[in-house]
Amino acid sequence: MYFPKLNILKTNRLMNDYLINTFDGWLASQSEMYTDYLNPLEFVAECRVNKKLALSIFSLASSIKYFESHGESQDEKNPLLKVKYILDCPYCNENINTYFSRNDIPQDSICCKEDMCYSFLPADHPEKINIFFELLDDPILSVDDELSIYEKKPSPPLTVADEDSDLLEAMWQNEERKGTLSE
Ligand SMILES: [Zn+2]
Repeated sequence: MYFPKLNILKTNRLMNDYLINTFDGWLASQSEMYTDYLNPLEFVAECRVNKKLALSIFSLASSIKYFESHGESQDEKNPLLKVKYILDCPYCNENINTYFSRNDIPQDSICCKEDMCYSFLPADHPEKINIFFELLDDPILSVDDELSIYEKKPSPPLTVADEDSDLLEAMWQNEERKGTLSE
């Protein structure tokens, strides 16, 4: 495994080993240019995996609570990924702000700095809230590893408007409720 931390997901049998190994290899082969902005839909397209399973593994790999409760070493108690919500202006498409929790996205109307733009409620423009993940660990590579960096064929980003985002939300809410994901 390039990211041994992912073994925690295997031991808890939350995901099948094939998916975890595919995810591990995909993460390790990402160019450093992109590891701050990983798009789950690119994992789906490039590895031809089921979208819901893919979103679930991103969600789990970024769950602070999951790693806190299942990691053994100090390092394992930190998640592998960090979620980012990047809000763009619906009028000029310029980036307005980045939030690290869904709860941090403003509930009130906001406005970008452009004079041409109007204020808007982020909740009215879920298609403007892009979801990316930042890779927090470096892959553990042996000298024999020859990783090929993917030719990037950018997929449009996952957004909050995406119907499957409900799944992400459901998982996170579920976590909040139970405190941990599984026993
Ligand atoms: Zn604007």
